[in-house]
Amino acid sequence: MARGNMPRQPSRSGRQEGARRPLSKQSLSKQSTKGAKSKVSESNGVQSKTSSTAKRPKSALPKKKSPSGYDPLSPERVRQIIAGLDEMYPGVTCALTHRSAWELLVATILSAQSTDVRVNMVTPELFKKYPTVQDFAALEPERLQPDIYSTGFFRNKAKSVVGAARKIVADFGGDVPQTMDELLTLPGVARKTANVVLGTWFKKNEGVVVDTHVTRISRRLELTKQEDPKKIEEDLMKIIPRDRWTDFSHEVIWHGRKLCMARSPKCADCKIENLCHAADKTWSTVEVHPEAR
Ligand code: SF4
Repeated sequence: MARGNMPRQPSRSGRQEGARRPLSKQSLSKQSTKGAKSKVSESNGVQSKTSSTAKRPKSALPKKKSPSGYDPLSPERVRQIIAGLDEMYPGVTCALTHRSAWELLVATILSAQSTDVRVNMVTPELFKKYPTVQDFAALEPERLQPDIYSTGFFRNKAKSVVGAARKIVADFGGDVPQTMDELLTLPGVARKTANVVLGTWFKKNEGVVVDTHVTRISRRLELTKQEDPKKIEEDLMKIIPRDRWTDFSHEVIWHGRKLCMARSPKCADCKIENLCHAADKTWSTVEVHPEAR
């Protein structure tokens, strides 16, 4: 992929360009006063208490890392990240095959701890066998288990799908409810699933879908420091414009599948590489931040 700002070298063996190792006492002593001042400041951001610089005149000591003004949550940076994602993944939507809110709800429940590809292999036959929500409501969960076995956690998922169908038939007239509060009353439905259904089918931006990809990439991009999905969602809802919540979710999920994988992300092909300071980048034209992971 053509790149306007190519680094001099790709990262090799996991070490990032710009991710400097802390200087050893020996190497530090070899450096000129001017050089030491610069290197220590970049690598650690703090003064070394053990280096020979302690004996130098005060004016020669490395400065503490000055506040650069870098704000990972600045509106301009967030806008650029969104623009880069838009450019990489124009028009993406949910990868789960579905023809109705009910089918999307079932597919999303089945996708937990599974892959969309796997779920999409299962659901066409499933909905041919049980075309309506009433068909599912009439089942005993055990009857459903063989049909969804390959998606994993099939016992719990069967209970959730049948339980959700029964609740929808009993309390919502057979229609998938369209509010967060109502969706959360369905067995097996938490905010992630509710956000998928509300955002993708009903076009309602009620929240940000936080799955494993959104968790990983939001942390790499320093959009959150949280690990709990609910807190990550709260952080993202504060900085992503509401009308972009669903699109942002889909784009980040696609980014996690295509380029920004958990292991060996393809940073050289990433259009937001210059905005990313993740410590586990495989290629970098910018300084990496050890805490960005
Ligand atoms: S530069 Fe690499 S780690 Fe950062 S968002 Fe892009 S693919 Fe992910």
